Amino acid sequence: MSGKTPEGFSNTFFEKELKPYLPEKILDFHTHIWEPSHWYGYVEGKTGLSDNTALASAEVREHQKYMATTISYRAEDLIADAAAAFPGLETHAVVFGQPTPKCDHNKTNAYAAASAEKYENLYALRITGTPLATTPEALRREMTEHPYYGYKVYLNWLGDQYPPLIFDEMLTEDEFRYADENGLIVLLHVPRAGRLADPEVGESVRRMALRYPGMKLVLAHCGRCYRYEEIRGALHFVSDLDNVWFDCSMVMDPAVMAYILQRKDPRKMLFATDCPVAAMRGRRVTVADHWVDLVLPGYPESHYRVISDNMRASFMIHEIAKAAIIGAELAGLTKEEMQRIFFANGMELLLSVRK
Ligand SMILES: [Zn+2]
Repeated sequence: MSGKTPEGFSNTFFEKELKPYLPEKILDFHTHIWEPSHWYGYVEGKTGLSDNTALASAEVREHQKYMATTISYRAEDLIADAAAAFPGLETHAVVFGQPTPKCDHNKTNAYAAASAEKYENLYALRITGTPLATTPEALRREMTEHPYYGYKVYLNWLGDQYPPLIFDEMLTEDEFRYADENGLIVLLHVPRAGRLADPEVGESVRRMALRYPGMKLVLAHCGRCYRYEEIRGALHFVSDLDNVWFDCSMVMDPAVMAYILQRKDPRKMLFATDCPVAAMRGRRVTVADHWVDLVLPGYPESHYRVISDNMRASFMIHEIAKAAIIGAELAGLTKEEMQRIFFANGMELLLSVRK
């Protein structure tokens, strides 16, 4: 067999390596959906967007170099990718818009809410955060009039240009309190280059989780710990906290999964992808002190991305699932505990929000 990806490889890989381990329903706890008109500066038919990769301003193009951002990724695209990655299984997803300053958060929130109303297997979070905050009354109205299960915390920066923020500053006191009182999900992409292991970040996550025990805090990308070296220095900040969960989106290292699953209640681990990024074919690996994405040709150039056809590759979605399965095995979980990561853990969390 050559080092090229044959036709239908993803299906073969799924049937052989994943399907025997997976439950019949999959819940993906971290996905983004949006339409072209949500970007500031987008002008229909005038911005040269025919290749679906170019955006209006140079600044946004710079942002794209860091992540595989296409001009749109609609609910229907997400549903189609989930069906392609998990043929024959019932798929569900937690959805939210683009949490960046380059998108109109009102539009992208309204679209996520409308999509969740349209499709019963989608569950929306509202992009919420200090720079966008209006009045307490407006927040309550927004949260009660739409089917939101909580917040996706707004990221007030582009790409990897992290400002020296801590979690305390990313939501207003009113937003924290509202989540606490209503038992809402708060999905957080922790800031700074040091990730959850940065002592100020780790302490602030811990402090807020303790101050607002009703808040259900989900740390995206396992606290952005894609590498074993990162989670090893980070988990202690939250390992004893009952109201903290992990979404394993873009985590493809079984050692990261095993480290968490051995030390934390495994029911706190949620399968997640970060689609559309994880819909790429390839794998995130560690080289020296940073992650690197190996991907097949056809995707735009991006920081820490190596593009090559000299390998057989499936969806990154599959690599995340495989890392969760192997990590669970290394941690000594039962098959039932492992399968719960893919659906039951996340669904129980969602149901705990809605009465
Ligand atoms: Zn994301």
